[in-house]
Amino acid sequence: MFQKILIANRGEIACRVIRTAHALGIATVAVYSDADAGALHVALADEAWRLGPAPVGESYLKAERILEAARASGAQAVHPGYGFLSENAGFAEACEAAGLVFIGPPAAAIRAMGLKDAAKRLMQEAGVPVVPGYHGEAQEPALLAAEAERIGYPVLIKAVAGGGGKGMRRVEAAGDFAEALASARREGESAFGDPRVLIEKYVTQPRHVEIQVFADGQGGALHLFERDCSLQRRHQKVIEEAPAPDMPAAVRAAMGEAAVKAALAIGYRGAGTVEFIADGSRGLRADGFWFMEMNTRLQVEHPVTEAITGQDLVAWQLRVAAGERLPLTQEQLAIAGHAVEARLYAEDPAKGFLPAVGRLERLRFPEAPGLRIDSGVREGDAITSFYDPMIAKVIAHGETRTQALARLARALEATRVDGCTTNLAFLTALIRNPDFAAGRVDTGLIERDLADLLAGSERPPAVAWYAAALSAAGALEAPEGDDPWEALTGFRLWGGARQVVHLEAGGEPVEASLAFDGSGHSLSFAGEAAPAVRLRVAAQGQGWAVLDFGSRRRRVEVRRWHGGVTVFFEGRSWRFGLPDLLTGESDAAGAGNSVVAPMSGRVLLVKVAAGDRVAKGQVLLVEEAMKMEHSLTAPRDGRVEAVRVGVGEQVEEGAVLVTLAEEEA
Ligand code: ADP
Ligand code: ADP
Ligand code: MG
Repeated sequence: MFQKILIANRGEIACRVIRTAHALGIATVAVYSDADAGALHVALADEAWRLGPAPVGESYLKAERILEAARASGAQAVHPGYGFLSENAGFAEACEAAGLVFIGPPAAAIRAMGLKDAAKRLMQEAGVPVVPGYHGEAQEPALLAAEAERIGYPVLIKAVAGGGGKGMRRVEAAGDFAEALASARREGESAFGDPRVLIEKYVTQPRHVEIQVFADGQGGALHLFERDCSLQRRHQKVIEEAPAPDMPAAVRAAMGEAAVKAALAIGYRGAGTVEFIADGSRGLRADGFWFMEMNTRLQVEHPVTEAITGQDLVAWQLRVAAGERLPLTQEQLAIAGHAVEARLYAEDPAKGFLPAVGRLERLRFPEAPGLRIDSGVREGDAITSFYDPMIAKVIAHGETRTQALARLARALEATRVDGCTTNLAFLTALIRNPDFAAGRVDTGLIERDLADLLAGSERPPAVAWYAAALSAAGALEAPEGDDPWEALTGFRLWGGARQVVHLEAGGEPVEASLAFDGSGHSLSFAGEAAPAVRLRVAAQGQGWAVLDFGSRRRRVEVRRWHGGVTVFFEGRSWRFGLPDLLTGESDAAGAGNSVVAPMSGRVLLVKVAAGDRVAKGQVLLVEEAMKMEHSLTAPRDGRVEAVRVGVGEQVEEGAVLVTLAEEEA
């Protein structure tokens, strides 16, 4: 076995590989771009080498720099992860030429599967069923149009060098062919430097079912069953599961056999995935699936296979690359239960799923039986536009599909992300989609049900408004210390006065008025934001509170940030702007009862103490953040009720530092 390996990747997959390497006692070398100098994969590895500036062309795609780092660090092998150089035959060769083991298939096998047309010709010869279509060399538009006619519409035009769903166009009728061809060629040229295309019959009610294969290059080859990745958006996977719903044992055996045949035909070694498209209109059948492509690397969704087989696929990769035989035989492998993976992304479903960059001001995952989180980022890390905006993969395993789905839904609802817009609520809606829940999956599901899947994200629920208003009024700030009894009282010197606060959600300003009478709060809102209510803060702690509405109690979590508050409630998060805090202005006597840290930093100076009278604009304390000093001033005239920090203390963005006592009106 190797003593030291280099991981030529970043993020989630780099962390994933490091975890197994360390478990096997193998030292790890990370590589990083300037944007990733403080990234998790760098922190986890035993050592790390800088590649260059943030753009991938100057860092993670710089094969020469990576090989230099491998040589200099004394690594014996290179794991490419997925994406980047993982399917680059030239890189695999360069590794071998430098005396390093490439933890992947031989360069010739990568090449054989690199172009979809050549791969299909090869598979056809090997006796693997391929999607009916045209995959020839000639590319004249008239000939391609005639081929499309022969295949029969609808057809799918694919860039031969395509990947990640790019360069694909579905064409319904002959009249649209020329235009679709031109745009697929343009996309192929710009994304992959190759304008050539192939044409396939568009399979009706398509299901994406893929087989995980493994070969040791010494004659041993087997499969680790299938994954169903039919939940896709724009030909990109969103949710994956194993095994495939309603997979008959005979079809599994036939598909597995075809996939192993494909791997053996190209002299494969290591982990690979053979992707099939299946006609789902009459259920999965042994004569109803066709080869689409082979991915000659570890797949993003490999954890669902690990969950149902109990195997560590990265460990298998390392062992096979080190010259060992396959650890198990086909007969020793069995499926245990069901697993589902959801890809959590920093993207905005309401804005066409555009990547949403930002800093992960909050990132917390639950822990539960059968739950696995694979992530490459931590709370406080930034999601930038340089790389894939994936935050984490959330994987749930259960005895049955129903249990796995329930566990996944609960895990997503207990996940807290703030700072970036994410697809979290969309994923939860997807898992609860009736067709998906019943196992009726096909690749058109998301698009068909998109409106429903995006619904419910428009307006915050009433409870979120209540929590935001209480937080804005300074009534949800946990008392100091972590004495649970103190936390339970929910008591603070809030005064008996009426207070008006200004909230903003989705660009809409709303005025809320609050009154406290010693036993509870009365809240009312201008307009129709939320009905008037009477409630009591039954318990609270750092960042959470239990609101008692008389006969029902609801738990909320809040995070204060500069200029606003985020409320987490019922598995969703809602962001409210607090204009009063931003401007420091207040038109009502009670507004602006607290001074919060505008960013995470350290307190340099505290200039006031409880009981002091202060004037609006007076400097109360000085914070150092991002190597700069920030003077924090009183939002209004008043008396200091409490100072909650001391000099030298580290504070989080949004932390309440000083509160002002409510003035009698
Ligand atoms: P999978 O079927 O495993 O999702 P994809 O082909 O969609 O395979 O790509 C896998 C991952 O590799 C993607 O999620 C993306 O992060 C990364 N990736 C794909 N193509 C590229 C590329 N050209 N450059 C960088 N990363 C890529
Ligand atoms: P990529 O390299 O981008 O992953 P694939 O050839 O694997 O390209 O196709 C991506 C997705 O497009 C598949 O997962 C499937 O959902 C859909 N697709 C591909 N070929 C067909 C087809 N012939 N009929 C219907 N859908 C298809
Ligand atoms: Mg594919």
